[in-house]
Amino acid sequence: MPAPTPPTNTDFLRRLVADRDVPCPACRCNLRNLASDRCPHCHIPLAVRVGLVEPAWATFLSALVGLSIGLGFCGLLLLLVAISTLFSRMGPPLRDLVPLFLGVLTAAPAMLLLILRRPRFIALDRAHRRLIAVIAWCVGLGFPILFLALVE
Ligand SMILES: [Zn+2]
Repeated sequence: MPAPTPPTNTDFLRRLVADRDVPCPACRCNLRNLASDRCPHCHIPLAVRVGLVEPAWATFLSALVGLSIGLGFCGLLLLLVAISTLFSRMGPPLRDLVPLFLGVLTAAPAMLLLILRRPRFIALDRAHRRLIAVIAWCVGLGFPILFLALVE
């Protein structure tokens, strides 16, 4: 006796929406009694996926944005100072740029670490994810604020 074939995505999708009101994620059309793997209204292909009960993307993206702001601000300002110094031979004292260097040297590896360890970050509980996001924002904003406070 041959082994039963596993249901296809289309079979699974049709069974899932056969007797319930499920809106199309694209056009919000009701997919009840769906006949194919495409939305009958907008014709976009549909699929069934496994998702997290509590999506952790908000804290992940928040942490990434916080670090990106710091890296972008510090990196762009260092680039502007370098270009300005190159053409005018005058620039701010090197000690004024220390917070910018620290900002780049902190935010860049932190962003890389966050991206590479994304599965571990997402597996953390909400409180720890939020704590990391707050720390990322403090790092991202701290060095630019320090630079602005120290510059004359
Ligand atoms: Zn649709």
